[in-house]
Amino acid sequence: MPATSLDSVVSLCKRRGFIFPGSEIYGGLANTWDYGPLGVELKNNIKQLWWKTFVHKRQDMVGLDAAILMNPKVWEASGHVSNFNDPLIDCKACKQRFRGDKLLEEKLGIEAAAVLKLEQVQPMLMAEKIPCPSCGKLDWTPAKKFNLMFKTQQGVIEGEGTDIYLRPETAQGIFVNFKNVSQTTRMRLPFGVAQIGKAFRNEITPGNFTFRTREFEQMEIEYFFDATINKWEDVFAQWKKDSWSFLVDQLGINPENLRFRDHEKDELSHYSKGTTDIEYKFPWGWGELCAAAAYRTDFDLNQHQQFSGEDLQYTDPDEPTRKIIPHVMEPSYGADRIALAVLLDAFNEEKLENDTRTVLKFSDKIAPIDLAILPLSKKEHLIAKAQELYKKIIQETDLTVDFDVTGSIGKRYRRQDEIGTPICITVDFGTLGEDEAQGLKDTVTIRDRDTLQQERMSIEDLTERLARC
Ligand code: ATP
Repeated sequence: MPATSLDSVVSLCKRRGFIFPGSEIYGGLANTWDYGPLGVELKNNIKQLWWKTFVHKRQDMVGLDAAILMNPKVWEASGHVSNFNDPLIDCKACKQRFRGDKLLEEKLGIEAAAVLKLEQVQPMLMAEKIPCPSCGKLDWTPAKKFNLMFKTQQGVIEGEGTDIYLRPETAQGIFVNFKNVSQTTRMRLPFGVAQIGKAFRNEITPGNFTFRTREFEQMEIEYFFDATINKWEDVFAQWKKDSWSFLVDQLGINPENLRFRDHEKDELSHYSKGTTDIEYKFPWGWGELCAAAAYRTDFDLNQHQQFSGEDLQYTDPDEPTRKIIPHVMEPSYGADRIALAVLLDAFNEEKLENDTRTVLKFSDKIAPIDLAILPLSKKEHLIAKAQELYKKIIQETDLTVDFDVTGSIGKRYRRQDEIGTPICITVDFGTLGEDEAQGLKDTVTIRDRDTLQQERMSIEDLTERLARC
């Protein structure tokens, strides 16, 4: 069940320590968010699962971690200095600034808005009578291009440094290292390079919680291939499939809340032959979750070869006289946007017999806490027994384990449901051998988050089963 509102997820995130407003004690900084103790576990699990799926479990992929600050020429070669623009419009009445295409998108849909030219944005806003969301007046300036790159300076003397940019995507770090990677790894085409890291965009209208922020994390792949051997349509179709499978089979997102969206011809960059996004049904409508595959031809390596003067050709190991500039397929995912979709998708409010419960039904692969150990009461010798079990599990497995003693057992179950813990283990007086009605000595109760079923199991069987996790 998708979340009924974004507000309920935002408030759960704050209440339980997933995501906090940034710099909160200073009144915040608009649209910045900090991941709390549970949020960082969730996002790390998503990133690690992505890395495992696309790097460790594939022979044709390697990883990279390039610097955020790069030579400014990189952004000239990539086209970001001249082309990385959004259509900025001002409300003449209240002077607020907006992204014209996004206002049109809300009314006309993502497909219609995506193909509009810069000069069409303001007339279309007037024709569709789309008023300023801030003051309600209909008085727009013509749209102008606004470059989204954050500029900063490198150097010790203020005003004398060189202008540089915070990277607006991680992809270019891969292209500029293509030669280093292919020479040091001796990878043969087709092969891919993956990278996870921060990217920065001076978005005109960030918002919808962590959906659009100015600082975010990307997980990107550049997959290099010889277009005379591999048909781009086949590579494209395979990456669409792999991207979809990561979201559905690994992260556990409900496929009914996902759809592919092919970019229209007018929407494609001049060098791209095809791009398909995967969109998620957010509470405010369909929105891009990731680029499942974007075919970038040989544009990027050619540009960097030309601007850097370095030979970036790949030498065919079977035919050393044959040198080519490989073509590239780019799947690109936003870690924060995916974490948001995962939270929304996992959010459920369930009616029980005499109660309702909020539960985050995360896939076991990414739940921030794998299991919680709950001593039934605060009696010292019971806590000591539960602590013994806790220590045994964290020593013998790689699981993330919570130990919770505060509040009634019912309240603690609800708390673990709300943070999405798949399994709770209760240690009681039966475990101690003091009350057979609760269970046999050295057995514990295991409660399943989703079915609410409780099962009694010996500690020995339990730790053996968990050791296999
Ligand atoms: P949008 O149309 O939403 O601005 P985009 O097409 O510019 O996104 P890409 O350049 O394809 O996005 O970036 C790849 C991925 O990075 C996106 O699918 C998204 O998951 C993530 N991403 C891009 N911009 C942001 C942002 N401002 N905040 C959070 N995540 C982002």
